[in-house]
Amino acid sequence: MLQSIEARTGAAIGERWAESTGTEIDEAVRAAANAADDFASTAAARRGALLRALADALEADREALVALADRESGLGLPRLNGELDRTTFQLRGFADEVERGAAHALTDDAAVAGAPPAGRPRLTCVRVPIGPVAMFSASNFPFAFSVLGGDTASALAAGCPVVVKGHPAHPELSRRTAVLARKVVDAQGLPAGVFQFVQGASIEVGVRLVRAPAIAAVAFTGSYKGGIALAKVAAERPRPIPFYGELGSVNPLVVLPSALASDSAELAATLAGSICLGAGQFCTSPGVIVVPEGTAGDAFVSALATALRGMQPHAMLSAGIRATFERGVAQWRGTPQLAPLVDDDTGGELPRPFLGEVSGADFIANRALHEEVFGSAVLVVRVASTHEATQVLAAIGGSLTVTLWGAETQSEDTRRLVRAATQVAGRVLFSGVPTGVAVTAAQHHGGPYPASTQPFTTSVGYAAMDRFLRPVALQDPPQWMLDRKGVPV
Ligand code: NAP
Repeated sequence: MLQSIEARTGAAIGERWAESTGTEIDEAVRAAANAADDFASTAAARRGALLRALADALEADREALVALADRESGLGLPRLNGELDRTTFQLRGFADEVERGAAHALTDDAAVAGAPPAGRPRLTCVRVPIGPVAMFSASNFPFAFSVLGGDTASALAAGCPVVVKGHPAHPELSRRTAVLARKVVDAQGLPAGVFQFVQGASIEVGVRLVRAPAIAAVAFTGSYKGGIALAKVAAERPRPIPFYGELGSVNPLVVLPSALASDSAELAATLAGSICLGAGQFCTSPGVIVVPEGTAGDAFVSALATALRGMQPHAMLSAGIRATFERGVAQWRGTPQLAPLVDDDTGGELPRPFLGEVSGADFIANRALHEEVFGSAVLVVRVASTHEATQVLAAIGGSLTVTLWGAETQSEDTRRLVRAATQVAGRVLFSGVPTGVAVTAAQHHGGPYPASTQPFTTSVGYAAMDRFLRPVALQDPPQWMLDRKGVPV
């Protein structure tokens, strides 16, 4: 059963309702499959109009949606209004992209007379929508990574129907958004199968959706555990399908000595703000801070500890996420090599930030310390050299982001560090903090496993559409097909 829970109090609000049955899930997938061919061949203007109408509808219902999101997530009105802005910006951005021809871009190689290999037929590579996409929302972005978030926007832009699985941590918001989306699809004269919605609070719902034979790809944003379980289901189908899983990440931030020459107290305050933003419930929240040994590093760590003690993260998204946070912190606390620096948890209603310190060697040796603790929990790793910082990055492996502070001057050490950062991250920052992900063409929100199950793709930014467009080379196609200029038949 599904139930709306007030995040701040844990109180149940309103009726309980049943999760989608197996038959309902199959029907949703069937409707999406029936709509797939016609939707795939829609012109750019039609898809652009749909995306813009979805953005308009979200804005028209803003007050009620944001209030509901706040009740179910506890993330606060300013953040949620901003997230809704980002979500509508994203929908309209994809509309612009489609209208300027991005989904229908093609590569055309003219025929060359003569014998191969120089001689060749005409080859035109087009991209065809992959088919119905199963979309899994995350709990921590009730708009931007939920029902009408980036995965849905990019799949619709590509010409693929979506079957969204709402997240049980914001069930009422999810179903209200889904009702709104259905109305828009209908008003646009499109078949209902273009947007389908299922709900569940048990893993069976998601598993059945991924196993449905007509589902052609899965877009998942969520935990490592959930992502890996569903990726396995996708891979074990009689016809395995792409699984685009955007998972958890520790987002290391490396402070080089030159960064500490300027106002390190201000940097520490900025960092503390990023660590506690949204109670640390960001996939890009910094979880590992690599700091040089020595007095300047000591002063920075001390300023960070002071700033963190003054922070007050708000209630977490759900009792389950809070319990997982506390378990993660308890595990760190129980690690003998780790010195707690900020650990003032008094078992209160609200979570408290945790900061622990560990040496580079102990961190590298202990794999358990490389895992994300979702929430405001951070490890400071003290290193003797830039070379050791490079080894810390290599030990962490895949991450959505790596931030390097103080890499302004080129040297062999800095080059190695930057190389290590680009090896392990989807996005490398040279200033600022990793929380906050701009929606642009150049964005890459992904990275090597375990940040993403598909390191060549992004789930944020306009390239996210490419995940749902499969290249097909047309050899000597008839003129009528070329006249379609990349729009699938
Ligand atoms: P989650 O609990 O994994 O939920 C995501 C979805 O997966 C839900 O629909 C959930 O459904 C389903 N699920 C989880 N385990 C499953 C299993 N074993 N089998 C089938 N379905 C399963 O994640 P979350 O709590 O929403 O989000 C927190 C995590 O997401 C953090 O680790 C965060 O870093 C990560 N995140 C990553 C990104 C990114 O872009 N990389 C963005 C946001 C969040 P049920 O609840 O019904 O099981």
